[in-house]
Amino acid sequence: LLGIKRVYKTAAGELNVLSDADLKLQAGELVGLIGPSGSGKSTLLHTAGLLERPEAGAVLLDGIDCLKLDDKARTAMRRSKIGFVYQFHHLLPEFNAADNVAMPLMIAGVSRKAARETALELLAEMGLDHRADHQPGQMSGGEQQRVAIARALANTPRLVIADEPTGNLDPATTARVFATFIKMAREEGASVLVATHNHALTTHMDRVLTLEDGKLVPYEPE
Ligand code: ATP
Ligand code: MG
Repeated sequence: LLGIKRVYKTAAGELNVLSDADLKLQAGELVGLIGPSGSGKSTLLHTAGLLERPEAGAVLLDGIDCLKLDDKARTAMRRSKIGFVYQFHHLLPEFNAADNVAMPLMIAGVSRKAARETALELLAEMGLDHRADHQPGQMSGGEQQRVAIARALANTPRLVIADEPTGNLDPATTARVFATFIKMAREEGASVLVATHNHALTTHMDRVLTLEDGKLVPYEPE
C-alpha cells in the first residue's frame, strides 16, 4: 500500500536526516518506528504522510507516486487515504472534541449528523464520551491527544501514521489507544505506522524499524 523509495530529506539545508530511506507497508500491517530523539522519526512520518516533501525519492500510495501529483491532487490523496496523529496534536481550539473528530468526515462530504455520530463512537472508544462537548483548552494533554487520535481515524484511512501517540498517556489509556490501532490493522486492513519511545508496545507489532544514518533498518533489541 505505502512505498517509500530512496527518500532523501535534509534539515535546514545541511544534514541528511533521511538518506536513501526505503519502506514498504502491506495492508493490515502494524509497524513500529523506534529510535533516539533527533534520529528522524517525525521527518520520516511527515514524508510518508505527504506533509513534507523530500528532496529526492518517491512516496507511493497504492502504486501512485504522490510527489508527482499537483498540490490539489496530493491533498485529496492525503485526506482520503491517510490518518495522521501528530506528535503535538494540532486540534482546532475553537471547536469542541466531537466537532474536531467530525471535521475530516464533513470535509469528505458526510452529513453533519452522521459525522457527529461517528465522532461520538470514536470518542467513546478512546474513553472520552464525557468530553465530547469540551473544547481542547478545557481538556488535559492526554485527553487532547486522544481526540487527535480519534480525528485521525474518523475517515477509516487505509494508512494510519502516528507520531508518538501515547507519549502523554497513562498505561491503561495507552493500552486502550493501542488496541484501537491493532483493530485498525487487523479488522479494517489498514497499514499502521507508529513512532514510539515505548518499547513495551513493540511486542504487539509485526515489525519494528529504526533509523540508522537516515536509513530504515530492522530494530534489534540489545
Ligand atoms: P523525537 O524523538 O525528539 O521526536 P525525531 O526522531 O522525531 O525526534 P526529527 O524531528 O525527525 O526527529 O528530527 C530529525 C533531525 O532533523 C533533528 O536533528 C532535528 O534537529 C532536525 N530538524 C527537524 N526539523 C527541523 C527543522 N524544521 N529545521 C531544522 N532542523 C530540523
Ligand atoms: Mg519526533
